[in-house]
This record gives sequence, C-alpha cells and structure tokens, in this order.
Amino acid sequence: METTCCIAGGGPAGMMLGFLLARAGIDVIVLEKHGDFLRDFRGDTIHPSTLELMHELGVLQEFLKRPHQEVRELAGKVGGETVKVGDFTHLPTHCKFLALMPQWDFLNFIVEQGKRYSSFHLKMQAEVTDLIEVNGRIIGVTAKTPNGSMEIRAALTVGADGRHSIVRERAGLQVIDLGAPMDVLWMRISRRPTDPGQTLGHAEAGKVFVMIDREDYWQCGFVIPKGAADEIRKRGIEQFREDIACLEPFLRDRLTELRDWNDVRLLTVKVDRLRRWWRPGLLCIGDAAHAMSPIGGVGINLAVQDAVAAANILAAKLVAGNLSDHDLAAVQQRREFPTRATQRLQILVQNRVIRRVLGSVHSLRLPWPLKLMQRWPLLRRIPARVIGMGCRPEHVKTPVGSSLRN
Ligand SMILES: Cc1cc2nc3c(=O)[nH]c(=O)nc-3n(C[C@H](O)[C@H](O)[C@H](O)COP(=O)(O)OP(=O)(O)OC[C@H]3O[C@@H](n4cnc5c(N)ncnc54)[C@H](O)[C@@H]3O)c2cc1C
Repeated sequence: METTCCIAGGGPAGMMLGFLLARAGIDVIVLEKHGDFLRDFRGDTIHPSTLELMHELGVLQEFLKRPHQEVRELAGKVGGETVKVGDFTHLPTHCKFLALMPQWDFLNFIVEQGKRYSSFHLKMQAEVTDLIEVNGRIIGVTAKTPNGSMEIRAALTVGADGRHSIVRERAGLQVIDLGAPMDVLWMRISRRPTDPGQTLGHAEAGKVFVMIDREDYWQCGFVIPKGAADEIRKRGIEQFREDIACLEPFLRDRLTELRDWNDVRLLTVKVDRLRRWWRPGLLCIGDAAHAMSPIGGVGINLAVQDAVAAANILAAKLVAGNLSDHDLAAVQQRREFPTRATQRLQILVQNRVIRRVLGSVHSLRLPWPLKLMQRWPLLRRIPARVIGMGCRPEHVKTPVGSSLRN
C-alpha cells in the first residue's frame, strides 16, 4: 500500500495527528495493533487546552455530549486532611474545567471525526513490526495483521506507538532515561451513589491512592515503589485489600471484588525522551518521543499537543510533496521545551514528594506550599494553569482541505 503519511499507533498522539492531516486533505493511514480501545489505558484526563483545540476544530459541543465529569477544582487528601490544590475556573479557555472521560471514549470520538474525511484510513489489529529503509531514509513500515503481513510505503512515517515504541527502537533513536521511583497497581472497585465525592489523590505514610469516578465504578491506582510489585503480591491479596481499606474505609465491604491478582494490573511508569525525535522520512511524537509520568496527568495532553504542532508544521509540506529533514527537526524544536519543562516538574514531584511519601513511616504533615494554597486560594491558579494548559499550548493552524465522506 502507498500513502502520504503512515502513523504507527492509534493512541491520543496518533489518532489526533491522523484526524488533523486527513482534515487537511492528506492521505493518512493509522495502524493500531489492538482490535479496540477497550483496555486498561493510562489516563482519563482531557485538559482545558485539549478542550480548547476541540473548540478550534468546531467539535467541542459534540464532544461534551459524551458522558464525562467536569473537575473545576483539584483536591486531594494528605494525612487525613482535605486540601485544594488547583482552581481551573480562571483559565483563559472556553472550558474552565478538566474533563474526565475514559480514554476509549475519547479515542472513539477522534476516530469518528477522522472518518468524516475520505483521506482518513484506520487499520485496527495492524501491528507495526519493522521499518522499511532505503539509503538511510525511512520509506514505510511492515505490519502484522490477522490476514498476514503487509507493507505500507509513505512519504512520512510517524512513530506514535507509545512508551514501548517499536518504531523508535527499530530506527535506532537514542533514548535518555530519566527514571521513575514508582509503578502503579491499577484496578476497578464498584461505586455506590452514597460514596463520597472524588478526591483524585490520597496520600498517607507509605501509601498513595488515586480514585477516578467512572459513574458505576472507581478506577483506582495504588502507587508503589518501583519494582515492589512482586513483594506486594507475596504478602497476599488480603493484605493488599487491608492496605486499601485503611486508606478508604468506605470501600472495605466491597474489596472482595478484587478476587485475586488477576483483578489488579501493574502499570510500569517510565520517564524518558529521545535525543533526536526524527530521522529522514520518520518522526516520533507523544510517548514514543517522550514517555511521561502519570504525575499531573498531562501525558495525553502533551501527546495531543505534539500532534497539533506536527500537523501545523508538516501539512503544507506533505501537500506540496517537499518535506525536508529541516521540517522534522522543526517539530522537535517546537515541542522539546514543553516536554523538558514538564518532565523536569514531574521528576521534581516524583523525587521530592512521591519518593518521600512512599518511604515514610510517620504520619504525613502538610508541606508548606500546600499550606500556603489553603490560606491564599489565589495560589491554586498556578498549578491549574501548569496542569490545565501546559507550557506552550498549541492552536490548530491546518486548513480544511479534504472532502467529507458522503
Ligand atoms: C499509570 C499511568 C497513569 C497515567 N495517567 C495519566 C492521566 O491520568 N492523564 C494523562 O494525560 N496521562 C496519563 N498518563 C500518561 C499517558 O497515558 C501517556 O502519556 C499518553 O497515553 C501518551 O499517548 P500516546 O498516543 O503517545 O501513546 P499511547 O497512549 O501509549 O498510545 C500508543 C498506541 O500505539 C499502539 N501500539 C503500540 N505498539 C504498536 C505497534 N507496534 N503497532 C501498532 N500500534 C501500536 C498502542 O496499542 C496504543 O494504542 C499515565 C501514564 C501511566 C503510566
């Protein structure tokens, strides 16, 4: 098969880029290795800056009709005390809230938008296995499908295949590993209408527990020190249930829903980035270019922003057929600063807060920045701005150049 742009990976980065390029009239094929999006994804947060992009694309109202929750204020619990840490209501965006939506609903929405354009092609159950290289230039990929293997040739190949990217590995791009002191045990526990409201994060000595309200169940994350999963499993599921019940006693009567370790998934946390995001004919974006920590829940937003920047910089070149290495380098140049700045903050929080909390045995005391935020609510606008909009928010500049499907 031949196309103008072949995207490996149908996560937030790949789907958004596919949609934007197709909307600009560029033939694009997105290859996604899974058959659907209904699996344990990392993250449900759609940030005000991503919602602003939806507004620019004219699909915000339609998007907000999908089931979601709107979080206007970020709150958490530290050592039994409820603290407010972010206030989104003053952001200069149309949506002054963070939308919580299961990632599969978000991806299905973007796919529906992409499919409105005749140049958008999505192949599910198509796993990229290798790159095709001629004279040092990447000219496409090989992929495995239920009907056998296939070759796709493209003017541009994009690696948007996440933190375990095969594309970046096969391209031999150098990875800078920034390290993460934690992993997350991910599970569902049923939710009742009488349950308390969402606090998102609860930290006690040695434990951090995250709960996301998904109407009929809680999506829960139990943060553990890196590599401690085996030890926790050895202590047994009963002890694990007890650890959760100590943090959130209202869950105690339903923790038997975690029958065994098959009901608890381990998500490994990685923070890294590529030294160079591209090679002739190839560009990596999203987690494939920079794996993000769950701190601040900003990875989806960054992946989407990368996609917008890539489409803004590359669309006209792809249409004209004169894409150069310089253009690929321009995407990295545009997105490297926000990536570095966000990772630096995440590492600061990982090392100064998460590592200390997980290693502590004494009851936690509120750190002074949080104390200040409780006293001066104005200060809560700062984390809201950093989380909600990030550094260097992108805006859609690609024109509508494609015909809609009938
Ligand atoms: C525990 C945890 C919790 C997190 N929580 C949040 C959160 O609340 N909010 C937030 O914004 N971010 C969160 N993140 C980060 C966020 O998940 C990522 O930064 C974001 O999903 C990156 O998007 P992406 O499109 O680059 O990659 P991914 O979301 O990883 O998507 C990559 C896609 O490529 C597909 N793929 C992989 N290999 C191939 C292949 N060979 N061929 C074809 N397809 C392939 C995958 O199936 C997947 O669909 C969290 C991360 C972790 C580890």
